[in-house]
Order: sequence, then structure tokens, then C-alpha cells
Amino acid sequence: MTDVVIIGGGPGGYEAALVGAQLGGNVTLVERRGLGGSAVLTDVVPSKTLIATAEVMTSIRGAGNLGIHASGVTVDLGRVNERVLELALRQSADITSRLRGEGIRILDGTGRLDGTEAVVASTPDGEERLPADIILVATGARPRELPEARPDGERILNWTQMYSLRTLPERLIVVGSGVTGAEFASAYHALGVDVVLVSSRHQVLPGEDADAGRVLQQVFESSGMTILSRARAQAARRTGDGVVVTLSDGRTVEGSHVLVAVGAVPNTEELGLAEAGIALAPSGHITVDKVSRTSARGVYAAGDCTGVFALASVAAMQGRIAMWHALGDAVSPLDLRTVSANVFTAPEIATVGVGQAEVDARLVAARAVMLPLGSNARAKMQGLSDGFVKVFCLPTTGIIIGGVVVAPNAGELIHVLALAVASKITVDELAQAFTVYPSLSGSIAEAGRRLHGRDGETQTSI
Ligand SMILES: Cc1cc2nc3c(=O)[nH]c(=O)nc-3n(C[C@H](O)[C@H](O)[C@H](O)COP(=O)(O)OP(=O)(O)OC[C@H]3O[C@@H](n4cnc5c(N)ncnc54)[C@H](O)[C@@H]3O)c2cc1C
Repeated sequence: MTDVVIIGGGPGGYEAALVGAQLGGNVTLVERRGLGGSAVLTDVVPSKTLIATAEVMTSIRGAGNLGIHASGVTVDLGRVNERVLELALRQSADITSRLRGEGIRILDGTGRLDGTEAVVASTPDGEERLPADIILVATGARPRELPEARPDGERILNWTQMYSLRTLPERLIVVGSGVTGAEFASAYHALGVDVVLVSSRHQVLPGEDADAGRVLQQVFESSGMTILSRARAQAARRTGDGVVVTLSDGRTVEGSHVLVAVGAVPNTEELGLAEAGIALAPSGHITVDKVSRTSARGVYAAGDCTGVFALASVAAMQGRIAMWHALGDAVSPLDLRTVSANVFTAPEIATVGVGQAEVDARLVAARAVMLPLGSNARAKMQGLSDGFVKVFCLPTTGIIIGGVVVAPNAGELIHVLALAVASKITVDELAQAFTVYPSLSGSIAEAGRRLHGRDGETQTSI
């Protein structure tokens, strides 16, 4: 039997463990905190559970336009966070029993490499040396800290600490307008908190489609959120019952709490990687190829510790690919062009494939069409106006290569475009499939019709 040892039990690690066991490996997984990893215990599951509550509040706030007067609705953040944490623990327990059921050995401890053919696990019962034919490192990442804004877990918080709040902050300063900052700002704003978003760029979500970022910025501002653009937070300190954030230009912002969401750093220290000859990027991420191989034979890596694409879905796929490759099963290299991603703000922003930035930089020749949500019949009925559907296709063949959806539930709507990109279908094929009338997905088919038979460069119709 092939001995497989996995360090880290997040999606990169536990999905790999399942494939390793399925393919007949003798799998041991070493995890120091709990199965599901940060994805389940502190990041994806808690944040999306909180956002589920925020979505209800967004609907209630928008209900006035539909003729419903819903006043006096309040949020019990203590109960919300209790539910969040219960759900995360339950999900972790479900994953643990699934892995145990598949015969995977789970070691509660901290793992490190002992060369390329063994892992040493430090457990509450002492050290155990685990000989390995194949090793997978899937140790994830943790919040980046600003030297002068260290979290205290009470008022200066990172995203893993937000669930200890029992009452709504009076004024929440969110530092960082990337995906995590934008999601928390959106959620807390929906819960009725006065939110100040400190953004180092001219527009929120600098890494996303610029049209989408513009819509979100406008929604945030028009609904009363304060956005400090081109402002860099340098320090945060506690005052009596609040916090003061100092910006690099000397300005100060006062609030009751501050969330620092300025990116993540990989958990790649103290793992014995350099000693085992495993190459790291200057950022500390483990260098991997498209089948998750590191520079050392027999050692693979997956997920946020590789810095490929910080998504649970990508971590899981990298982990599975590692096992398929290592254990001799059929394997296709990781194809980032087909990855769909979603920002869970209100409205959501979902993307797949080629984006506007690549088209504008002429890295890819494409035609594009953008249809505002306000022109969609169902959106009008639902009182929705902020958002759009954008589709990119190859100029001559009309093959769909990317798309953006900005709408409530965009994370669900993007699937049809993800399928189109993965299956390389054309705009005509997209347009020919029936959509329900009225439906938001009707705008996706309409985009296909608008792109029929036209040649030339990018065309965007608004
Ligand atoms: C707030 C937030 C929201 C997010 N929302 C989404 C989302 O909606 N959708 C999405 O796809 N992605 C989302 N992500 C990204 C997602 O959380 C990560 O991409 C995903 O967790 C990566 O999985 P992983 O397996 O690489 O690492 P992790 O989930 O971080 O798991 C790594 C595990 O390794 C363990 N570990 C580390 N070192 C050792 C060691 N030496 N020994 C033993 N164990 C060790 C850790 O304890 C941890 O449990 C979000 C991220 C954040 C911060």
C-alpha cells in the first residue's frame, strides 16, 4: 500500500485525503486545529453564514419599494454568531466522520517534514514519525497583520475574531476593500451598523472587474456607507471604549471597533520545507506546477499555502489533482480559466474566465456585451436595478471565454457561464437554450443574442 501523509485538514487537505483513500492509499492526515480548516472554522463557512443573515436584512430594507412596511426589525448579533459557530463546528464534525468512515487516520497535532519521505507529527501524546511515499502540504494561510494595528480580539479584530462579538458595533471601521473587507463591510452595513470602509485604491474591489467594483462602490455610498478612498491605514489603537485608526496621511478615524482585512500570509514556516529542498516564492508560498508538484519528488502542495488562487474550490481541486497524479489515476492539469468565483456582497459579483482587464490590456482578443440588470423584466418586478451581465467571446468563432454577473444570487447565475466556458460553447448555442420568462438568467441568453455574428473588437453596450 502507498503511504500518503497530508499536513493540514482544510479543503486542500481533506478533499485530497478522500481521493487518496478512494485510490487505495494508506492515508494519514495531520491537523492541529480541526477538520475543515480555516475554510470551515473561521473563513468561508462563518462568513457566508453571517452573510445569510445580512441578506435577509437587505431584503427587509428593500421591501418598502415593494409595498411592505417592515419596521422594528432588530438583529441579535449574539444569537447570529452563536448560530455561525455552531454551524461551523457541526460542518467540521461531519467532515471528520466522513473521513473516518473512509478509513483515513486523523492525527490531532502539528506536522512538519522530516526530509521528503517522512512527516513528524507533534501530538498531545508525543511525537510520531510517519513514513510517507507521498506527502501533501496543505497548511493554508492566516490573516496578515499591520505592525501598528495588532489585533486584541476585542476591538481591534481580524476576520477570525469577528464571531466573538455579542452586540452590534456602534461604528465599525473596515480596513481593506478587497474581497474580505468588502464582504464584511456589506454584511455589517446590512445589519444596520455604521460602517467606514478604508480603501487604499480609488475604488473598492481593485482585483475585480472594474465595472462591478463601480456598481458596488455606488451601492455602498448611496446606502450611506462611508468610503475613504486612496486612504492607507497605518495604525490602530484602543481608546477608552473605542478605537482610533491613523491613516498614512495623518488623518484619524474613530470607531467602536476595527476589522483589519489586509490580506493573508501562507503558513509555510517551521515545516522543514527548505531542509527538504522545496522551493518557495519570495512571498513564502510553495511553488507548485499544474499537477500540484513541488520542486521535491514525492512532495505535493495544495491550497492557500501555494498562492495559486485563494479559493476553497481551487484548494480542493489542487488537492485532488495531487492525489490523482501521485497515485497514477487519469488527471488533467489545473485550468484556472474555468474557475468561477463570487464576492458575497449585496449585490454579489460573480466571475469566470477571461476578464475585462485582460481584454483591455489586449492580452486576449474578445468581443463583449454588457446588459444592465435594470433592463431585465424579472429584475424590474423584484425592484432590482444595481447590476449587470457581461459576456466575453472570441471574435470570430463566438466561443464564450468569460463572464461577469453582478446581481443578487450572482454566485448561482454564473454557473451557466462557467459551463459555457468549460465546454467552449458559442454565443449562439447559449442563446438557443430556453430560459424561463421572466428570469434574471434571461439576460445571459440575451447577451448571447446580442453577440451573434458581429465581428471586430470589444463592443460594450450599456
Ligand atoms: C473571510 C474569508 C472568506 C472566504 N470565503 C470564501 C468563499 O466564500 N469561497 C471560497 O471558495 N473561498 C473563500 N475563502 C478562501 C478560503 O477560505 C481558502 O481558499 C481555503 O480555506 C483554502 O483552503 P486550504 O485547505 O488551503 O487551507 P485552510 O482552509 O486554511 O486549512 C489549512 C489547515 O492547515 C492546518 N495547519 C497549518 N499548519 C499546520 C501544521 N503544521 N500541522 C497541522 N496542521 C496545520 C490549519 O490548522 C488549517 O486547519 C475565504 C477566505 C476568507 C479569509
